[in-house]
Amino acid sequence: MKRIVIVGVGLIGGSFALALKANGFKGEIVGAGRSATRLQVAQDLGVIDRFETDLAEAVRGCELVLLAVPMGAMRSTLLALRSGLSDETIISDAGSVKGSFVADVRSVLANCARVVPGHPIAGTENSGVEAAFATLYQGRRVILTPLEESEPSAVAAVQALWQQTGAQVECLAVEHHDRVLAATSHLPHLLAFSLVNTLTELQEREEIFRYAAGGFRDFSRIASSDPRMWRDISLANQEALLAVLGNFQANLSQLAESIRQRDGEAIEQRFQRAKLSRDGFCG
Ligand code: NAD
Repeated sequence: MKRIVIVGVGLIGGSFALALKANGFKGEIVGAGRSATRLQVAQDLGVIDRFETDLAEAVRGCELVLLAVPMGAMRSTLLALRSGLSDETIISDAGSVKGSFVADVRSVLANCARVVPGHPIAGTENSGVEAAFATLYQGRRVILTPLEESEPSAVAAVQALWQQTGAQVECLAVEHHDRVLAATSHLPHLLAFSLVNTLTELQEREEIFRYAAGGFRDFSRIASSDPRMWRDISLANQEALLAVLGNFQANLSQLAESIRQRDGEAIEQRFQRAKLSRDGFCG
């Protein structure tokens, strides 16, 4: 590819650019977004080769555009760049929820044959281009959720680019992706935010945070993630998240009941089941 455009040069978009450059991508990488000041920082850091703030101008004549903006900004971004697209331009994204991106893209573009939604299963709790790094995707998975009409050549091109960043690419159906990610990524983030809020609201919060050791640090790390990004993800994946939150609440209530009844056997069995599952999956 001679030119790709990344709209939203933050952690995810910036790391995509850095990883491509580190792995021999020879084309031009153009950054696009709203803030010339922030894009200038990205250029000064060597993340992008140049930038544009007019999105339609930015994508004119490029082979591929990757949207790496928050979920809540996907639709307005598509509307802003639409007039610069040609029939050949491949459109992909890195958003954490696929159903809402597909709905956005279908509402904005008449022809989605060159659209290939994607989601890198990689990230940190830090945001912005300063947090971007070239090895973020090394050995990590990227899920593509091609549409019925996505052309195989477009899917292959997006797959090849992600592979060039060091990632392993897999394909899933849109709804399947959103259900699985609600459970494995979105629910844990909501639990981390809720845990920290619960502790903060306790009277002894000073002592709690003073004596908080490794376990709390590990568990709560993701509560330092960007609140706006997680607001958008929670709203974009509403249905799947409410379903898995319901399961979690039921599970927690059963645990509370076992504790109330001093049912040590039930409690231990519950913990044992969880330990076996985690050791099996992550060990
Ligand atoms: P980020 O805040 O680091 O970067 C977002 C970029 O989008 C910034 O450059 C920001 O200036 C720009 N932006 C924000 N609002 C915009 C708007 N209204 N119009 C145009 N540009 C706008 O966030 P990130 O972590 O890089 O996340 C980007 C996308 O990647 C999100 O859709 C997120 O769901 C997804 N994602 C994040 C992670 C993660 O762990 N951070 C992992 C996988 C996917």
